[in-house]
Amino acid sequence: MVTVGVLVAAVLLIGQTGVARQSSSQRPKAAVVIVIDQMRADYVTRFTPYFTGGLKRILSEGAVFDSASHEHANTETAVGHATLSTGCFPSHHGIVGNEFYDRLHDQIVYAVEDTTTRLLRTTSAPLKRDDSLGSSAHYLLRSSIANWVAQADKHNRVFSISLKDRSAILMAGQSAQENTRADAVYWWDRKTGDFVTSTAYAQALPEWVNRFNRSGARDNWRDSVWNRIGDTTQYDAIGPDSVALENDGIHTAFPHRFTTERGNRSYYDALYYTPYADQLLIGFARELIRKEKPGKGKGFDLLMISCSAADAVGHSFGPMSQEIFDHYLRLDKCLDTLIRTLDSALGRDNYVIALSSDHGCANLPPVENRISVRDYQAAVLGVAKEAMASSLLDFRRDSVISFLGSDLIIRRNRLAPIDSANESLLIRALTWSLDKLPFVLKEESAETIRMLDNNFYPGRMPDISVILKENLLLTSSTTGTGHGTPYWYDRHVPLAFWGVHIKPQHLTYRVRTVDMAPTLADLIGIAQPDSVDGVSLFRNIRE
Ligand SMILES: [Zn+2]
Repeated sequence: MVTVGVLVAAVLLIGQTGVARQSSSQRPKAAVVIVIDQMRADYVTRFTPYFTGGLKRILSEGAVFDSASHEHANTETAVGHATLSTGCFPSHHGIVGNEFYDRLHDQIVYAVEDTTTRLLRTTSAPLKRDDSLGSSAHYLLRSSIANWVAQADKHNRVFSISLKDRSAILMAGQSAQENTRADAVYWWDRKTGDFVTSTAYAQALPEWVNRFNRSGARDNWRDSVWNRIGDTTQYDAIGPDSVALENDGIHTAFPHRFTTERGNRSYYDALYYTPYADQLLIGFARELIRKEKPGKGKGFDLLMISCSAADAVGHSFGPMSQEIFDHYLRLDKCLDTLIRTLDSALGRDNYVIALSSDHGCANLPPVENRISVRDYQAAVLGVAKEAMASSLLDFRRDSVISFLGSDLIIRRNRLAPIDSANESLLIRALTWSLDKLPFVLKEESAETIRMLDNNFYPGRMPDISVILKENLLLTSSTTGTGHGTPYWYDRHVPLAFWGVHIKPQHLTYRVRTVDMAPTLADLIGIAQPDSVDGVSLFRNIRE
């Protein structure tokens, strides 16, 4: 509902600046970013008819872009979250993989590892030294929407939560400067079941987090059996329940006695592979809303939530499974409780929601489309040996080449001095030989090259990027599925905005995930840096 006064104010603002900025009375008090890990865009079309809760509200009352995609090659969690939050490609924000090769220090690093920080937990059980290492965003080279919000006004606050450290941290953006970093960043520690943070963000966990960790909420499902919550005919319309390559290949059908069906997992590990883990996260989010009261402070508040268990269930059962369908039916209900909490805390006209995903996923690959990591590495080392022989070089081949997924890294410090001079010869010979392998993509399309370009950050790249043919999955497991390729099924994700003054509609033209942060910045009326790769879609979705 737009009052006449507000309309006049808005028109005046357009007149003054030429840009349709929102007047302060229209500006929401809070925004919620919801990232659902591994949510493919086709879930919107396939599952929406069955949604009745939070996802229904966002997808039927919001502006939904049906053709949004990540435009980088390495469609992994860290890369996707950093791209969504910074509005930049990995070639600018620098997070080129969940792990990447730090060329300067000749080591493979995890995207959020930070040995200068410690983890802050509630549980004080004795742990191994490595278990107390914290993490931060020090590898992230561009600011995120969280930083823009924090910088805009000292009263603004940012909260970022996830089950995964890399998701919470990379949404929350750069962490080095106290005055522009997020106020609170929490993720779930599967070793203890605690929601934790690191010394990069706080000196201690707030008491409400400790209380939540001690509340027993995380132990609610110890005796639970995961069964379908909806009508079984709905599930049959989605697909068969039992598919040979699901889960561990044995426990492929409901009901899932998840605490015992994958024998060697701890309870928290097992829980992570069920919808209950995302339910726990949303429970934590609601507690955060009750305790921190976003939207009720002196400034604007941004709450970022990344639901990671959707990825774990997707990996185990695949996009066409009844289990992933059940996960989304449950998430729809969970998000309904979250949105109702926000409605009553803030009023539904006072906040906006942005929804997207960090990457998609391949359909469960049949046996003939699975390339085992062991076979892959053996085949590559086989042709490498030939390449070296034909280049008249004599390398200790096993230690000179390291693998990072399908990519190859030449460890220069392990080369004999005489061979170092011939390094480029080796790379050329290797590249030529790799083309002989039947599973390697030989002719890259212009689009694939663009994805690789957008994913290229100097000093963090392997020596040879190997792209496998479409629909092939490089995996160390004989079951389940994955993502990480430049293909459409891994890149095509939902992008939706919901809130007052956003016109409910489906938009079919192509947009990019780098457009999310600039659009949200416009929606909430905060400035963004000039150097982002994305563009604001604000004009396209406003009423
Ligand atoms: Zn994943």
